[in-house]
Amino acid sequence: MKPAERTEGEAADIATRLLAWYDRHARRLPWRVGPAERAAGVLPDPYRVWLSEVMLQQTTVAAVRSYFDTFVRQWPTVEKLAAAADDDVMRAWAGLGYYSRARNLIAAARAVAAAGGFPDQAVALTKLPGIGRYTASAIAAIAFDRPEAVVDGNVERVIARLFAIAESGAEAKRLILAEQERLTPHERPGDYAQAMMDIGATICTPKRPACALCPLNDDCEAAAEGRPEAYPVKAARTARPTRYGRAFVAVREDGAILLRRRPPKGLLGGMAEVPGSAWSGEHPGDDEGSPTKLPWRRVAGKVVHVFTHFRLELEVLTAEAGADVPAPDGAWWSAAEDIRGEALPSVMKKVIEAARPGATLAKPPGPVPSGRRHGGGRSAA
Ligand code: SF4
Repeated sequence: MKPAERTEGEAADIATRLLAWYDRHARRLPWRVGPAERAAGVLPDPYRVWLSEVMLQQTTVAAVRSYFDTFVRQWPTVEKLAAAADDDVMRAWAGLGYYSRARNLIAAARAVAAAGGFPDQAVALTKLPGIGRYTASAIAAIAFDRPEAVVDGNVERVIARLFAIAESGAEAKRLILAEQERLTPHERPGDYAQAMMDIGATICTPKRPACALCPLNDDCEAAAEGRPEAYPVKAARTARPTRYGRAFVAVREDGAILLRRRPPKGLLGGMAEVPGSAWSGEHPGDDEGSPTKLPWRRVAGKVVHVFTHFRLELEVLTAEAGADVPAPDGAWWSAAEDIRGEALPSVMKKVIEAARPGATLAKPPGPVPSGRRHGGGRSAA
């Protein structure tokens, strides 16, 4: 059934059933206000809603929780975050991935602080760095109870199944948004948005959805067909290309590791890394990317990391350096006890761990005994 063929009454019934379920089963999340509090007129802090939504882009709730707690403890208001040093924010973000989000987070916090608060309409929210249509509608609905149609990955799946949307790609997205616009109620739109997210996260899961427990079972076309997992229909995938590179882990006698900063713009912009070659479709030449003359040796295995648009295969080389080896221009020796606090993306943690096991973990290893050579590395995938 197409959106135009469904009646307003049917759409309202679906929202009512969903909200009744949400009143009993809402997930408790640190950035949320529960349905009972909302009914009493309490709205969540837009700063916490915005921060959580930015963190949740491409990342799961389980992974975000501890980062969210760290951020609100360190910067309890948007003004405090706006006044933070860029490096401190990037460091606190390290490990969450998609680092352009952190750079946009800082820029947006400064714009909001300068304007005296968050705008309360989706259109104005999209003017802030890093806030696209989805995030703007989520903040407007959740923090300000605006009747915005919110469609994240979970909601997309629920609606594709609910209406057995047979299209894929951009056409499916258009139909899903049209359905969500039709379903979104003017009463309790913030709760409705979160209820849809919760159904997708806990009941209408990608594999083996719990249709028997679902409050939308009687409305659901995919369940009626007996094949909910057939939706959303996937577009044909294009192969992910592989890029190759070399990474050089220089370890000083006292355990310090040579690092440099990536350019501020682009992939992993502004994050720390060990020196290395460019990443390209060709294998790099023997000395490409070497930061300084040292007796480099290969670590066994390759470090493999999968980014959204490509797969990266890195050959890791390591060498011990004397205490008098200077850091090249733009690089620095990061002391053994400081490595964990550096803004290292996951791929660089893998590289360092391959050459120097334990260096990025909670308890740093001791200094390298003079003349000791590290054993072979590991292959990280
Ligand atoms: S009935 Fe099943 S497929 Fe349909 S929305 Fe509920 S959990 Fe998803």
